[in-house]
Amino acid sequence: RSPDLAGIAALVSGVRARNRAAVARAITLVESKKPAHQADARALLKELLPFTGRATRVGITGVPGVGKSTTIDVLGSHLTAKGHRVAVLAVDPSSTRTGGSILGDKTRMVNLAADDNAFIRPSPSAGTLGGVAAKTRETMLVCEAAGYDVILIETVGIGQSETAVSDLTDTFVALMLPGAGDELQGIKKGLLELADLIAVNKADGDNLARARIAAAEYKAALHILAPASAVWQPPVITYSAATKEGIELLWSHVLDHRKKTSDVGELQEKRRTQQVKWMWAMVDDRLKTKIHSDPTVRARVPALEKAVAEGTLPVSLAAEEIAALLGF
Ligand code: GDP
Repeated sequence: RSPDLAGIAALVSGVRARNRAAVARAITLVESKKPAHQADARALLKELLPFTGRATRVGITGVPGVGKSTTIDVLGSHLTAKGHRVAVLAVDPSSTRTGGSILGDKTRMVNLAADDNAFIRPSPSAGTLGGVAAKTRETMLVCEAAGYDVILIETVGIGQSETAVSDLTDTFVALMLPGAGDELQGIKKGLLELADLIAVNKADGDNLARARIAAAEYKAALHILAPASAVWQPPVITYSAATKEGIELLWSHVLDHRKKTSDVGELQEKRRTQQVKWMWAMVDDRLKTKIHSDPTVRARVPALEKAVAEGTLPVSLAAEEIAALLGF
């Protein structure tokens, strides 16, 4: 089926006119799994592409309870007050529920949810990380075309979702809890390598001293890592989303990171690399879908899986047979 060109043209002008209902409809189209919708979504994105890429794209991660939604609510409101238009997206492939909280849930961001200059979209429904992240990326493009100049993408400190979000964004911020010693044993080297900024939240009241200790320990941990950038050593700050103390500082580091990496072309290079990575991620995703929906493969897979599980068929022979069925 060829794309519905008139419908797409109307959607494009609605998005460009910053009509919230049109933005929501465009995102629903982009997120749809129906093949007919996907052709329309591709046509839509092609039309919107010239208006994308201008936003400051920021990833925000942290374990449940660290204060992601409180921080995004406060930071987002701070930015809309300065005249920015802020879109909040989420990547949560495990499920739409993590530790009792729903990422990108409007009820967790009451100020932003009531803000005309903010747009909040929860994570696409559970699926493969590749699929969820690809849809979030396209949602980000729709938001950029609708004039949102700050995109905040929330994710949880679980598995590969942090890598996926850092591949979507210009600056990746890791939120941490106050604490010391034992609590820091769990720091993942991988997360420290991804973070462009480490921000220890809840630096208020009785937590203040513990927040400072945590910050010092993160600084020490970062020192033993080779920095990923020639012009940027990730700073470690303490702040409080509850009192808003340090929110401005947090944002100034994001802007500083953006400026320094952009001045030397690192940011531009990062975005180019991300684009190519995304192309291959989408090819991988489509290949997998095709493999799993191929009728001859589907008919043969249960027997092959059983034989491999029982050890009666070598894995390499089973893989070879599937490849042969696909004509490789
Ligand atoms: P999320 O699960 O990472 O989104 O965390 P939330 O934003 O829901 O916050 C978890 C809990 O920590 C809530 O009870 C917040 O009120 C609290 N909290 C968030 N930020 C701060 C802060 O800066 N200081 C203090 N003391 N509590 C905070």
